[in-house]
Amino acid sequence: MSSENIRIVMINTSHPGNIGAAARVMKNMGLKRLYLVQPKSFPNYEASAMASGASDLLSKAIVCDSFEEALDGCHLVLGTTARERKIQHEFINGREAGLLTAKESQQQQVALVFGRERTGLTNDEIGLCHKLINIPTNPDYSSLNVASAVQIISYEVMMALGIQTTHQTEDDIALASSDNMQRFYQHLEETLVDIDFLKPKQSPQLIPKLRHIYNRARLTQEELNILRGILSKSQKNN
Ligand code: SAH
Repeated sequence: MSSENIRIVMINTSHPGNIGAAARVMKNMGLKRLYLVQPKSFPNYEASAMASGASDLLSKAIVCDSFEEALDGCHLVLGTTARERKIQHEFINGREAGLLTAKESQQQQVALVFGRERTGLTNDEIGLCHKLINIPTNPDYSSLNVASAVQIISYEVMMALGIQTTHQTEDDIALASSDNMQRFYQHLEETLVDIDFLKPKQSPQLIPKLRHIYNRARLTQEELNILRGILSKSQKNN
């Protein structure tokens, strides 16, 4: 699924390094669109250094004069805050935010908004958000570094979008078919009898137990071939 409809908006960021670090984690998590509202200093050497291989995201970042401008075209605006303020607003956690963003971004533009390092979002800015995201943290020390907050939310969005960037899913690996597994169990039983390990009448539970071990392992066809090779060789050498 695409992340084109998702933008990360950072407001009045003071430390350029945080902008770079946010760009880096966005790219790690498959997000592309970074909006910067009145950053203190940008472009900036520190931002580029922290972005590392994500300098393309920085060069495409859109610098805006106002928060409203950064929200242009967005139908869902989710603000992030370290404190559950007294104001009446619906709060969701990072996981819920990931799921909601993944769902809504199929149809419309979604903004995920991050506040100033020291003071977060103003009440006026919060007023423009449909919901607020609070990442659950230690109540005695709840304020995350802004780039860390971007990382956690980007990760949740990526997981919710189902983007598997690094790991092969089980579907991609050719698991052994059940008829090949049945042939393997038959071969295993024959071999164990041949080498005098198994006397079927004396230990009827052995084969079911071995089946259980191999079923739990969810063998690939390649692994099964190796095991079949070992069995054949043991039979020959017997
Ligand atoms: N006192 C400020 C802390 C700012 S931390 C506040 O009340 O929000 C800088 C930014 O990091 C915040 O504006 C928010 O975007 C993000 N952030 C930090 N901790 C967070 C948390 N626990 N949950 C959600 N966002 C958080």
